[in-house]
Amino acid sequence: MADKLLTELGEKLIAGSLTDEKLMTASGENPSVQVLPEANVLKIGGQSIIDRGRAGLYPVIEEIVENLPHHKMIVGTGAGTRARHAYSVGIDLGLPTGVLSVLGTFVSMQNARMVHYLLAKHGIPFIEPLQFPQLPLYLCERQAVVFFGMPPYTFWQQNPKIGRIPPHRTDTGSYLVSETFGARSMIYVKDEDGLYTADPKKDKNAKFIPKITAQELIEQDFNDVVVERPVLEMMVNAQHRRRIQIVNGLKKGNLTRALNGEDVGTVITS
Ligand code: ADP
Ligand code: MG
Repeated sequence: MADKLLTELGEKLIAGSLTDEKLMTASGENPSVQVLPEANVLKIGGQSIIDRGRAGLYPVIEEIVENLPHHKMIVGTGAGTRARHAYSVGIDLGLPTGVLSVLGTFVSMQNARMVHYLLAKHGIPFIEPLQFPQLPLYLCERQAVVFFGMPPYTFWQQNPKIGRIPPHRTDTGSYLVSETFGARSMIYVKDEDGLYTADPKKDKNAKFIPKITAQELIEQDFNDVVVERPVLEMMVNAQHRRRIQIVNGLKKGNLTRALNGEDVGTVITS
């Protein structure tokens, strides 16, 4: 900058248009910092884990506790079956996507509260979006926090390409936390070993895919996938989070292996 008040980019940004492609390219030349490079973002599945109650959730909670001495964890929660019920009632009542998004947010918050109270005796706080500025302190002090996985757009949620269900849900909200903070990982804890060529619950011949790129997966255009599709699209434009992992939380040890950097489950890269 020498003795100038503005950088070259600063001058261009002030004089130029924020829809100018060349100028926008220039705005990406300086790499963004990793705010929390040691933190792991986990998402505990709503339908896949939490809705199973004690049988599904307790072992995952246990494994999180076992890993507290070794790993920093930002734990997001899914919404699951109760959100799907709320969506169905909302749709029946003619409510728009933005309102459905408000409903889903509160269900993922219920799940975050439950996970939080199970971890409370270990000093783990639950944080709402407004409390994210305290997150680094909590990670230093207690190694983990719990948040609700829905991105907090509520009724600012965009409409999906098809249908009415909010397209950015808890997989996406958790992903964005990992991306923005330049976290160490993004681990989805669900109830299947990872990604298959089809939903393994419906297709016995579905083949397991241990490794794939987001681009390949978008091109494959499977009928159904294990993670929200917007996550794959976001990975293509990611600054930091170009690797996500899906592990089976019903099998003890998988989460720990993922936290230790092992390629357990399915790894999707970009
Ligand atoms: P969460 O509980 O995290 O929201 P979901 O229930 O939304 O998880 O997604 C996980 C489920 O996705 C799995 O239980 C599985 O039945 C289903 N699924 C659909 N398509 C696939 C696929 N291609 N590979 C693996 N699982 C799939
Ligand atoms: Mg889901």
